[in-house]
Amino acid sequence: MSNESKKTVTSYYGALTFGTEAMRDRLPKEVFKALQETIKAGKKLPADIAGVVAHGMKEWAMEHGATHYTHWFQPMTGTTAEKHDAFLSTERDGSVIERFSGEQLIQGEPDASSFPSGGMRSTFEARGYTAWDISSPAFLMKGGKGMTLCIPTVFISYHGEALDEKTPLLRSMDAVSKAAIRLLDTLGIKGVQRVITNAGPEQEYFLIDKKFYSQRPDLVMTGRTLLGALPPKGQQLEDHYFGSIPDRVLEFMQEVEEELFLLGIPAKTRHNEVAPHQFEIAPIFEQANIASDHNLLIMEVMRKVAEKKGFALLLFEKPFAGINGSGKHNNWSIGIDGGMNLLDPGDTPESNISFLVFLVAVLKGVLKRSAILRASVASIGNDHRLGANEAPPAVVTVFLGDLLERVLDAIESGKVDLKTEKQILDLGLGQVPLLNKDYTDRNRTSPFAFTGNKFEFRAVGSSQPISVPNTVLNTLMAEAVDDLNAEILAKIEGGMSKEDAILAAVREGITATKAVRYPGDNYSEDLQRAAAERGLPNMKNTPESVRAWTDKDTIAMFVKYGVLTAEEIDSRYNVRIERYVKGIDIEARTLLLMVKTMVIPDTSEYQGDLASSFNNLVAAAESIGLSEGAFNSQAGHLRTLAEDLSRLIELTSILEETIEEMEEQESELDKADFCAARLLPCMNAIREVADKIEVQVDRSRWQLPTYSEMLFEH
Ligand code: ADP
Ligand code: MG
Repeated sequence: MSNESKKTVTSYYGALTFGTEAMRDRLPKEVFKALQETIKAGKKLPADIAGVVAHGMKEWAMEHGATHYTHWFQPMTGTTAEKHDAFLSTERDGSVIERFSGEQLIQGEPDASSFPSGGMRSTFEARGYTAWDISSPAFLMKGGKGMTLCIPTVFISYHGEALDEKTPLLRSMDAVSKAAIRLLDTLGIKGVQRVITNAGPEQEYFLIDKKFYSQRPDLVMTGRTLLGALPPKGQQLEDHYFGSIPDRVLEFMQEVEEELFLLGIPAKTRHNEVAPHQFEIAPIFEQANIASDHNLLIMEVMRKVAEKKGFALLLFEKPFAGINGSGKHNNWSIGIDGGMNLLDPGDTPESNISFLVFLVAVLKGVLKRSAILRASVASIGNDHRLGANEAPPAVVTVFLGDLLERVLDAIESGKVDLKTEKQILDLGLGQVPLLNKDYTDRNRTSPFAFTGNKFEFRAVGSSQPISVPNTVLNTLMAEAVDDLNAEILAKIEGGMSKEDAILAAVREGITATKAVRYPGDNYSEDLQRAAAERGLPNMKNTPESVRAWTDKDTIAMFVKYGVLTAEEIDSRYNVRIERYVKGIDIEARTLLLMVKTMVIPDTSEYQGDLASSFNNLVAAAESIGLSEGAFNSQAGHLRTLAEDLSRLIELTSILEETIEEMEEQESELDKADFCAARLLPCMNAIREVADKIEVQVDRSRWQLPTYSEMLFEH
């Protein structure tokens, strides 16, 4: 470890970000002040100070060894993109200087045609622009021998359409802020300037030895194992969870954390997860757009450090069949800038009332928009968690915990009227955060659980950026908050007192949203039945669920709140389907290749060994004094293997034909449906036979590293 690790974290925390401290250091006083105010107000950087900021930033970056800068953004591919430019620039007289102008800081023009637009841009205006999101600080990224100044940006088209996942997130944060301010005003909390969305993503991942990874074409090409028999041990014993972390992994974690601290990313917890070789890292929550940038950086830093330490980092949602998958619990809350968390019951009557109102808004929003919330986390990988045999399920329900359930029931049945301070305090809301600290009260199978002062959306996949689900959450919340506000105002208009109006709206909201509250085991048949009875959407796979993006009423919501235009939604819908089809196509072809070039040859060879040894045995039978019948079981053994191999070869040609048939489907959506209905089952059928064969074949003949090796060897 470097010397740096011996220093206290606070002495180097954020050293590689151009944050408040670096800004104060490097910028003239009035420019620093103007910049801070712009950031706080969530406005664009004025052109007249951009040049000064750029200069200060460049000097700071160069002193840290940076030679290049890049606009860092999130195209709709689910990852990040960057195009590096040197600070170097030539003067008229031919000399070279290092230059970084205000314009270069504020705006970039990457070649947009190489990023997906979902058909939004016609080629003649294929230009895209990046623009600095000044609320997210610039940072220095180590790479190779040098450093690059990275400027977090949005990515938009010539006409201003969002080509990225961040622009809609920023717009949604604005939408929910405005709606919440309106409702707070009605509740009597006046003059709030801004309501902030916070997110704290808990990132799960697998680490396996790189030597195994590089021998598995499926892991390399698709991120998951397409073949592989379950080891006898699996995770039955659950002895990995919170167990001691192996030294080699600990070193990895420490180095990751050091890099993250330098970047000003507040990595807080680390521990083992349920499955062998599965771990988690969680930062302290931050404003949602920053948390989203930081989560992407966490994934990037982990990938780099893993590589260095001889590991492969697996972020795919289900890298190993039959072993727990990885998610990214998205802890989400909204709160007054610099003040009260609106989802924290608190311990005063006022905070209790606003808590109840915002809680009911969440219930209303999640119930009304559960289909699009589910769609926001639909992906190839996540299909193996949601809707497969694993919690959380594809049905979005809310878990509130015993105490809150009782509070809501009491309010609904009129046992409390919230008018007296005593009654409110008697509800015991102040106990909720404390109770939720107690792990036993939690329902770990719930996709959307209240955990004390925030909701935890657990259906997000481990590889997904959190920008999309948070965009949807914020927007559905903005709508629900406005609806509730309108209901309260209408009641006041109708002559009710403010207190009565609030209580009546809360009560009606509780009654109207019962269907979305589910305290039970989300992994059970009962949940499936409840979903059907209550009419809750239950979309098992990506093609089914992605259709939610075409629902007229849903589109109207995004348009109304200025989060996405109809065209932007359409483009996202197209990109998602296309990515799904491409992804399954790659999986199918990788499987085909592996079976043909590895599994079939390995098995044939071993079968040949068995056959010749059997023949030799039969030939020798007489001389060793045995009748042929003595070899029946050996013959059976050989026959089973031969039959399985024949079946595998047969299925291989069926898979080939099915891939062709998929490609002949008319539309991309047809292809996607075909992938889910026909191609994946065909791949599963192959897997079943191949895995059965794997445990019959001599290990030294089998080229692929096995599950046992990948998961139990350190
Ligand atoms: P768990 O027991 O589920 O691991 P933690 O208390 O460790 O819960 O928190 C998990 C994540 O939730 C962390 O990233 C934490 O910072 C974040 N978090 C805590 N409070 C809030 C909040 N009010 N809003 C958003 N995220 C929060
Ligand atoms: Mg959690």
